Amino acid sequence: MRIYNTLSKKIEEFIPYDEKCVTMYTCGPTVYHYAHIGNLRCYIFEDVLEKTLKYLGYKVKRCMNITDVGHLTSDADSGEDKMLKGAKRENKSVLQIAEFYTKAFQSDLKDLNVKWPEIVSKATDNIDMYIEMIQTLLEKNFAYTCGGNVYFDTSKLEDYYRLTNHKIDDMVVGVREGVEKDSNKKNQADFVLWFTKSKFEDQELKWESPWGYGYPGWHIECSGIGIKNLGNHLDIHCGGIDNIFPHHTNEIAQSESYLGHPWCRYWVHSEHLNDQSGKMSKSKGEFLTLSLLKEKGYHPLVYRFLCLQSHYRKTLVFSYDKLDQMAHTFEKLRFKVKSIQNGEQGNIDMQMVELYQKRFQDTLKDDLNTASCLTVLYDLLKDDMSNATKIKLIKDLDAVLSLDLLKESEEPLSVDISLESYILSKIEERKIAKENKNFSLADSIRMELLENGIILKDTREGTLFEIKK
Ligand code: AMP
Ligand code: ZN
Repeated sequence: MRIYNTLSKKIEEFIPYDEKCVTMYTCGPTVYHYAHIGNLRCYIFEDVLEKTLKYLGYKVKRCMNITDVGHLTSDADSGEDKMLKGAKRENKSVLQIAEFYTKAFQSDLKDLNVKWPEIVSKATDNIDMYIEMIQTLLEKNFAYTCGGNVYFDTSKLEDYYRLTNHKIDDMVVGVREGVEKDSNKKNQADFVLWFTKSKFEDQELKWESPWGYGYPGWHIECSGIGIKNLGNHLDIHCGGIDNIFPHHTNEIAQSESYLGHPWCRYWVHSEHLNDQSGKMSKSKGEFLTLSLLKEKGYHPLVYRFLCLQSHYRKTLVFSYDKLDQMAHTFEKLRFKVKSIQNGEQGNIDMQMVELYQKRFQDTLKDDLNTASCLTVLYDLLKDDMSNATKIKLIKDLDAVLSLDLLKESEEPLSVDISLESYILSKIEERKIAKENKNFSLADSIRMELLENGIILKDTREGTLFEIKK
């Protein structure tokens, strides 16, 4: 498998530490609010990566954290505490907020067929591990205390910026909602490992520590949870590109200083989903959640399908037009698969199976090219082989794509399949009428569909339809 490594800025051959089991750490959500569909794009990508590795024969041990303490609105240790913000917003305790939004997140992943990672650990369940790490960092002189807090001293590292290749002055990322100067810091890039003094006097969750009653910084959580559960050598660490700096940069700094050797080999980041106005946010514009899409009548897997159509390293701009188009394309795909399931099956042709399996693998091994993988799927649907062979291959591929292609669909994606077949037959009828220059018949077909709320659009790719909501 070849994958883009943010650390080397190159597509590299993937070689795990232990051929028998790949270790994978993926940053989890901060459970102060619903995940937006941008966040969910990242989890879909990680799910496809995990399933691809399994498809290629690896055993995968994956771990994810749930951030329920320590994450401030600016990733650079300033701004408001996200959990506290959520609790105030809803007049609840931090723990109630964390529990509620963890469940909501779980339900989103389930709807999207994203597998829940084998190990999921709450930040608040690992305080001892952070304390142990911070103590070691202080002993090794990589950390200092000032004004009651413990900070990581970034000036102790020559290559602190190696994941980003940028100095802090040039960076605008990571500073989500404004930065304030912390006069305790020796260097601008230093970050908090443990807070005892913060402006949040009403911080609900605090623990005893050698430095006083307080709570951990956000970055130490992922290093602590990762090392505790996956060991001292990590194969893959994922997240969205906004995590590269400062979060992952800080994770590398503290983990490697603590361990005394390199930690993670492959840093794999997915690009953002943007809305029309730019970066997606939970505070500005329409808050795009999966529930909102469901309320508007879209099946969650239509969103998964949309994500799979683009490469994980390309920015994806969300629009309802695009989602409509995807719903339509996906409906057609499911319709086609259904007709294959309903047709005469015949025998499985193992030669064809092997040929297509190789093609699937080649696309996925090529830096997780899911869009090409879908093209191979379309090729196989058209190819001359028995339905039984096709079904075997679809099942095979759906282990990675997880689009429920063979599942009896209880709910329509956005359009009823029988309605779709009716519309497609009308489009075909209209096409023949036009070829025969019978334009009045062609027009009457268009009008008849329009009266039923179905709009036809003639494009270079053929006639598409849209159903008025
Ligand atoms: P958070 O809950 O803010 O810590 O984010 C959870 C995950 O979503 C992180 O891995 C982020 O990098 C990722 N993420 C945040 N915003 C977006 C976006 N607009 N598109 C894709 N991924 C995102
Ligand atoms: Zn993390």
